[in-house]
Amino acid sequence: MTIVDTTAELTARESELLARVPDGLFIGGRWEAGTREQIQVQDPATGRVIKRIANASPEDGMRALDAAVAAADEWAATAPRVRGEILRRAFDLLQERRDDFALLMTLEMGKPLAEANGEVTYGGEFLRWFSEEAVRISGRFGQNPEGTGTMVVSHRPVGPSFLITPWNFPLAMATRKIAPALAAGCTVVVKPAELTPLTTLFFAQLLTDAGVAEGVVNVIPTSTARTVSEPIIADPRLRKLSFTGSTPVGRSLLAQAGQNVLRTSMELGGNAPFVVFEDADLDKAVEGAMLAKFRNIGQACTAANRFIVHESVAEEFARRVTAKVEALRIGRGTDDGITIGPLIDDRAVASMSALVEDAVTRGARVLTGGNAPEGDGFFFEPTVIVDVQPGSELLREEIFGPILAISTFSTEDEAVAAANSTEYGLVGYVFTRDLARGQRMIDRIDTGMMGLNTGLVSNAAAPFGGVKQSGLGREGGLEGINEYLSTKYTLIPA
Ligand code: NAD
Repeated sequence: MTIVDTTAELTARESELLARVPDGLFIGGRWEAGTREQIQVQDPATGRVIKRIANASPEDGMRALDAAVAAADEWAATAPRVRGEILRRAFDLLQERRDDFALLMTLEMGKPLAEANGEVTYGGEFLRWFSEEAVRISGRFGQNPEGTGTMVVSHRPVGPSFLITPWNFPLAMATRKIAPALAAGCTVVVKPAELTPLTTLFFAQLLTDAGVAEGVVNVIPTSTARTVSEPIIADPRLRKLSFTGSTPVGRSLLAQAGQNVLRTSMELGGNAPFVVFEDADLDKAVEGAMLAKFRNIGQACTAANRFIVHESVAEEFARRVTAKVEALRIGRGTDDGITIGPLIDDRAVASMSALVEDAVTRGARVLTGGNAPEGDGFFFEPTVIVDVQPGSELLREEIFGPILAISTFSTEDEAVAAANSTEYGLVGYVFTRDLARGQRMIDRIDTGMMGLNTGLVSNAAAPFGGVKQSGLGREGGLEGINEYLSTKYTLIPA
C-alpha cells in the first residue's frame, strides 16, 4: 500500500468553505454564540483544529426543546404537500451544494472525497424519498366484525423529537432522521456528534434556505452529550427519541427513555458476518469484501466484521484481497486517488493496534498492514489477518476500522453458527452461486438486513435496521416514516 504525506495546510478553497459554515447553536431559527468554551473541530488527517464552534449547555438544550415544542402545532398542521415540497427543495439545494458538503465531510471526518460525494448522494436520497412519502401518510377504514360500527385508523405526528447522530456518516445519519420526522409533521432537536458537527450546522442553514420555519429544526452540538441530553429526555413534552450510535450508549438512552415511556428508534452497533461459500464467484466476493470492509475506512455499522470463508477457498480469497489491499492509497481524503483516509481519532488507532495484537497473540497471522504509520493524523494501515482463533477480540468486538479478519468453516451449519454467534444482528453478507443455499442463509442468519452476493445494501427506499442488540425500529423505506407517526383508532357506532 502507498502512504501519502498528510502535512497539508488548508487550501484557499478549504478555508473559504470553512468560513461559510455557521459556528453557532441553531435554536428557534436563530444562530447563537453559546456561553461555554467552544468545541474545537479537528481534521483527523492532520490532527489540526479547523474550526471552533459554539458548545451547547444543558440550558441551551432545554431552550432548543422549548423552540421545537413551540413550533410543533403549526408544523403538524402544515399541509403534507407543503412539507413534501420543502424537503424536495432541500434535496435540490443539496445537489447544488454537493461539492461543498462533500469537501466539508472529508475535512471533519476524513473519508476520501469520492466517498464523501457518495454520501451526499445517499444522504440526499432520504430528502427525496421522504418528500414523496409526506403525501402518502394514510389510514384504514372499515366496518367492525360485529357490524355495529365503523373503525377508522389514522396517523398523527408523534410530536417533538430528539435526534442523536454519530460521526461516521455526518450527513446521511442526519437526513435519515430529519427527513422522515419533518415529512411526518414532527419538529426536532438534533444533537450531532461533537467530532463532526459542521456538516449538520451547514445542513441546518440549507434547510432554512429551503423554507423550513423557525423552531422546526434546532441543532445543538455539545461536548457534554450526556448532561445536555438527560434533561431533554426527561422532559414530558418530548415524544420521541431517535438514536444512531453504539450499543452501550443506546442501552443507557433506552433506560432513560423508559422513565417517560418515550417512543424510541435505536440504530446501534453491528458485527456483520461475511460468509464465502466454496461455490462463490470469488471475484465478486473479493469486490464485495473491499466495499463491505474498507468503505468509510471500515467505520460503518454495516462494515463486514468477521470474514467466515470455506476452508477450500480461504487461502485463495486471502491472497486476492491482500493484493487489492496492497494497492490502496492512504492519505488525506482531499488528495487525488486516496482510497483510505484517517480514522476518526487517536483512540480509534490505539484500538486497532490492540485488536491486532490480541489476535496475533492467540495465533493469527498478519498478511499485510497491522501498524499505525508514523506522522501526522490518525492513520492505520489497511490490514488482512488470517487464522483468527475463536475467542479473539476481533470476532467479538465491532472493529470499526480497516482490519479484514478471516476465519474458516467446513459445513453450512458451522457457517450459520459462526455468523449468529454475536449479540449483534444488523446485516449479513453471503456469497454463493447456489440460490437455494442463499435462501437458506437469508432465513437462518439472524440479522435485520442481508446482502446476497453484494457488499453494499443501504438504500433510502429500503428499511434499514437491526435485530438483537443492533437496535429497534427502521429508517428509510415505507417503514421509516412510521417511526414518527402514532396510530389512532376511532370507533363510530352505526
Ligand atoms: P457513540 O455511541 O459514542 O455516539 C453516538 C452519539 O451519541 C454521538 O452524538 C454522541 O455524542 C452521543 N452520545 C454519547 N454518549 C451519550 C450519552 N450518554 N447521552 C446522549 N448522547 C450520547 O457512537 P459513535 O462512536 O459516534 O458512532 C459509532 C457507533 O455508531 C458504532 O457502534 C456504529 O455501529 C454505530 N452506528 C450505527 C448505525 C446504524 O444505523 N445501526 C449507523 C452508524 C453508526
